[in-house]
Amino acid sequence: MAYITISKENFFHNLNQVVLKAGSKERVAVVLKDNAYGHGLEIMAGLSQEFGIKQAVVVSSEEAMRIRPYFDQVLVLNGTPVADEKLSFAITDMQALEAVESSIRIELKVDTGMHRNGIVMGDLEKALRMIKLRNLNLVGVMTHFRSADVLSSELSWQQKNFEAVKRMVRESRCGSVRFHSHNSAAILRSKGFDEDLVRAGIAIYGHNELPEPYDAVPLKPVLSLWAKRSSTRILQRGERVGYGGDFTAPERMTVSTYDLGYGDGWRRGKSEDPYVTAEGLAILGRVSMDFVSLASDKEEVCIMADAQQAAKHFGTISYEMTTMLSERIPRVVI
Ligand SMILES: *Cc1c(COP(=O)(O)O)cnc(C)c1O
Repeated sequence: MAYITISKENFFHNLNQVVLKAGSKERVAVVLKDNAYGHGLEIMAGLSQEFGIKQAVVVSSEEAMRIRPYFDQVLVLNGTPVADEKLSFAITDMQALEAVESSIRIELKVDTGMHRNGIVMGDLEKALRMIKLRNLNLVGVMTHFRSADVLSSELSWQQKNFEAVKRMVRESRCGSVRFHSHNSAAILRSKGFDEDLVRAGIAIYGHNELPEPYDAVPLKPVLSLWAKRSSTRILQRGERVGYGGDFTAPERMTVSTYDLGYGDGWRRGKSEDPYVTAEGLAILGRVSMDFVSLASDKEEVCIMADAQQAAKHFGTISYEMTTMLSERIPRVVI
């Protein structure tokens, strides 16, 4: 069966880089949503704990319950709020704020310009008044940047908006709250980070999607994808491989089938523009649901060792390459 290796050494290296930027381990929350970007939820939670990280971010309550034992605090971005001393819930519009009970730990998400989730800035005063009036348990105030990963002044005006949010929150005397806004791109390009927390996702998995001028922080890919040989045959010149026979053997050659396909979350791609594996083997013909063909007879091949490089080939981003990988593929820590 195809399998995924998780490099503990590379993961710790990346965490160290983020900690250096953030100032301390206490200021780093690891983002483990979507099966830890496809790396394996419990595995990455366990490694984060071993490294000394105390906080995590997930998208659902189901994920939160699974990793709760590993952390002191877990922020749930899109769950149904419940009272729990370890969990806090992002509140992303006024309706949700009106509905939430005072026993629940909430983090108010403010829309400073991304216009995806969050209370609009014009409603912030009203929201803060409601929080005081209803004696809600506000533990954090957060925002999310829409363009932290591009070269422009986009980030700075959103940051200015968030500074204004902070002032209003402090003036409202809603108690001591933690402020956080930085994702990977924002923390990697930041100098003199001074908020309470970073929400680090893609960087901890070893990818930096920032354009070149910002590429100063060295990160190492954590995930490698391997497939195992399922069968081998000798093809004569002119024989064709797979659905549609898109690949024609230019000469007598050894071809094996390996047990990874689009059913595992691997990209089907285009047979006329084949993906080349980490070991330099071009995929021959079409990708099947459970198999690919390669000119090799090795027992195991490394299909992908750097998701960002693979993403370039498929015209996508590293996030999508790893997140799509099926949960059924076993993950092993090396
Ligand atoms: C996914 C997510 C992050 C992490 O983003 P990266 O670019 O992977 O670091 C941070 N904050 C929020 C609200 C998110 O949804």
